[in-house]
Amino acid sequence: MKILITAGPTREYLDPVRFLSNRSTGKMGYALAEEAVSRGHGVLLISGPVSCQAPEAVAVKPVVSASEMESAVLAGLPDADVLIMCAAVADWRPREEALQKLKKDQMSGVLELERTPDILESVKPVRRAGQRVIGFAAETEDVCASALAKCRRKSLDMIVANDVSRADAGFESDDNAVWLITPDGASEEVDLMAKSGIAKRIMDWLER
Ligand code: C5P
Repeated sequence: MKILITAGPTREYLDPVRFLSNRSTGKMGYALAEEAVSRGHGVLLISGPVSCQAPEAVAVKPVVSASEMESAVLAGLPDADVLIMCAAVADWRPREEALQKLKKDQMSGVLELERTPDILESVKPVRRAGQRVIGFAAETEDVCASALAKCRRKSLDMIVANDVSRADAGFESDDNAVWLITPDGASEEVDLMAKSGIAKRIMDWLER
């Protein structure tokens, strides 16, 4: 298969030195890329700013903002059999990005924001029949119900749901505990394990 994977956070700059972002490290997306190439699949990894290292066999397209990630995904999609949207895309960005560093006294204390593009929504109308799309959901309450609703709303073939309120898993951790949820409501629990193990379970699901 040719697999398009997104990983890491995005950064939404308000000036050349300040940005909005989140705690994603990219570890899950990079683990997926590594597992996929080890099974002989082709991978294009679209990565936000992270310090992970991808294996040589993985083609990496670095991006910074949600808009750049959206363009890279839409450019790579026609050639892909599978899209795995693992990235923690920032949902909001500053309404304006200053070209020069803002002085303290130029800032009012109120930051005006606007929504970033929802990449999975942009993918919906242009994806080919037979192309598989997997999403991720980071939740802190009603994890499975919220993720299932997201899976259906975004027309996904599967969503990987994780409870990011757990201290021993999720963001910034080498481990995770997830549920693999399909739009028919079926779910498969994957107990706490290394992200490399979670990547294996996701790839097993895809190959099935
Ligand atoms: O709705 P929510 O952001 O929680 O959904 C998470 C899923 O949507 C993830 O797969 C994420 O990569 C994707 N996403 C996206 N574009 C955004 C925000 C999230 O494609 N702007």
